[in-house]
This record gives sequence, C-alpha cells and structure tokens, in this order.
Amino acid sequence: MNPDPKKPTQRICGQHYQTGELLSITCRDGLISQIDYLADKPEDMPLVAPGLTDLQVNGFKGIDVNHEALTVEDVDTLTQTLWSYGVTSYLPTVITNSDDRIITALRTIHKACDRFPMVQKSIAGVHLEGPFISPQEGPVGAHPKNHVTAPDWPSFERFMEASGQQIRLITLSPEWPEASDFIRRCVADGIIVSIGHTAATPEQIREAVAAGARLSTHLGNGSHQVLPRHPNYIWEQLALDELSACIIADGFHLPDSVLKVVMKVKGKHTILVSDSVGLAGCTPGSYSTHIGGDVVLTGNGKLHLAGKPNVLAGSAQPLIGGIRHLLQSQLGSLGDVWNMASVYPGELLDLPQKKGLSVGAPADLVVFKQTSDSLQLLETYKAGLRVYQCQQAEPSERT
Ligand SMILES: [Zn+2]
Repeated sequence: MNPDPKKPTQRICGQHYQTGELLSITCRDGLISQIDYLADKPEDMPLVAPGLTDLQVNGFKGIDVNHEALTVEDVDTLTQTLWSYGVTSYLPTVITNSDDRIITALRTIHKACDRFPMVQKSIAGVHLEGPFISPQEGPVGAHPKNHVTAPDWPSFERFMEASGQQIRLITLSPEWPEASDFIRRCVADGIIVSIGHTAATPEQIREAVAAGARLSTHLGNGSHQVLPRHPNYIWEQLALDELSACIIADGFHLPDSVLKVVMKVKGKHTILVSDSVGLAGCTPGSYSTHIGGDVVLTGNGKLHLAGKPNVLAGSAQPLIGGIRHLLQSQLGSLGDVWNMASVYPGELLDLPQKKGLSVGAPADLVVFKQTSDSLQLLETYKAGLRVYQCQQAEPSERT
C-alpha cells in the first residue's frame, strides 16, 4: 500500500488495454483531462485500463461486511485492500439477516462513507441481496432461511434510510406475489432490481422483467441442484434480452461451457462479479465462519465446506481472478473481459466509470503486466491519486 496517496498524479503512461497503443494519460481534478497517443512503443511497457467495478463484495481478507462487529475502520481497510486488487469502485453487499442486523451493517457502511472521503468515492452504492429471496433449499443458498421474507416496502424504506439512500441494487426473487409492485416502486426510485436466489416460474420471471427488473444475480448459482430441463428460470433469464447477467468466473462456481454460453448470449450485458466473502485473499487452511460453519480454503482459491469439497462456501477470488480465469480458458480477449468487470457494470449503474479510458472519465486506472498465465498488478489510481503500488519484484500469486 502506498503510504502517501495524497499527491495527485498528473501523468500515467502505458499501453491501451484494448488496442496496445502507447498512451500518456493526464489527470486533473480526479478526471482524465487529456490522452496523448505516443509514437514510440518501448519494450515491456505495462498496460493501462479502467479501474475495476465489483457489484458484489461481501468481504475480503478477513473483513466481512455482514459480520455484526463490522466497524467503519473495517470498511476503510476493505476499500484499501480492494484497491490493491485493482477494484476502484464497488458495492458492499449486505445479505439476508434480521432487520436490525441489516440496518446495523447499512449504517456502518454509511458512516464509513461520511468519515472517509476516499471510501465514499470508492463505494458506488450498496447491494442489498435479500431478504426478499426464495426460502427454498438450493435457491436460498447460504442465506439464513429464517430471515427470508416477502418483499415489504416499509422494511425496505427503513433499510434505505439506514444506508443514507445508498442502496443502488437489490437482489430479490419474483416468486412472491408482492414482487411486481415492489419492483415497480424500486425502479421508480432509480434502484436496479436483480433476480437471484429464486425459485420463480418462467412466467414470474417475465412479470418481473415487465415490472422493470434488469439484471440476474450470479446466474446459474444460488439455484436448485436439479431443475426441469426446460422450461426453467435459468433458460428464461438467458432468453430475456432486457436482463443483463452477473456471473462468478472463479472457475469453481460455473463450468467454462456455461460461462461461454452466458457470454455469447448476453454479450456486452455480461458482468463479472467476485461475490467474494471475508475469507477471500486469506491464507489457505481450515476456518470456522459465522455463516458457513467449518470451511476449507484451498491453495487454488476454492472455498468449500469441511469434508464436502463439492459444496462451495462462497467465492474466495478477487474480481481480477475472474478476469484471469476467463483469459486462461480462452473465453475472451483481454479488452472484452476487462470491460465485463469495469465499463459494463458502470453502464448498468449509469456511473461515470462507464466512459472507460476517455477524456472526462474518472481517473480510476489500473496499470498492470500481462504474462502468459497471469496478470501482475503494478499500480492502482482512484480519482487520479495513486492508492496502490506493487512492492514486489515478482508477480504476486494472487493477482
Ligand atoms: Zn448470492
């Protein structure tokens, strides 16, 4: 971590992550103010790309935004840790719990934004995942079933107030009779509604889209182990052009064939998320958690229940790990895959980050090297300030 990120950086050089052209990017007042294309192309010049935007972060490196002891300092530390993995904007994700616990988590995140200006800049909103999801085994996933409930506007208003009006994205299941009216009210307030942790019928999925739902949360996960081959809620969400799709591309949550199909069908409406939990980025080993019980984190970043290697206990990879997996599996070009974790989520949320590498865009930038089998992060800039600089001579295994 760069101990002194206060001094604004005026100029950043590197190869354009899509075209390979050599750029000199000038930053002023937190924005990209000028881009010059240089004729020379020195050997071994690093790449430069827009900072990553992660729509689903439950935690990282020991910090869990759903833990009852979460502090504002934890949120600051989490933000700084994410910078070191190239994430410059993110949505802390509060999952199903008692109303009091949800409100406590939302208040803490809100206070952290008030206290730390760079945290405020980096938190692009809050993702509320639950409690209005399916209670069924499978779709409910790791969410505590006893707190799952039907969509309720007065509860949601309390959540919204606790968050300081920061809830930008809500994941719910349209299987509840109240869902369509609830979705309409969210959409009227500018909140993106995402379908997830659902056991809805195809008809209910279509009704949700008609009411304004625009996203699928980790499509293909948080679902039944066995489904009717067709119709079912996965085909229906794939087929609806109105729905963008979030996917977890860590190599464990979805097989490459499914990743490929979702990317083909959804194109520029495919969004990578980490869905990382508090153990992500931690040392491999055995752990006891407040949600999943006893779990094991393997050396290659798989988090599973102790004694059940086939039952995942959350995602333990950073967002850049998903990019790396898609590149290693040859499922897309660097430019396209990087956009799935930066420009495309910016477009969905209508953030200024949707402008990518262009004049007037936020100076949220990542400088990195691409080797045959990895991505080595060198520097991260948030609003033109260098907030991370790699101190290692050798590529970090986790980035
Ligand atoms: Zn989930």
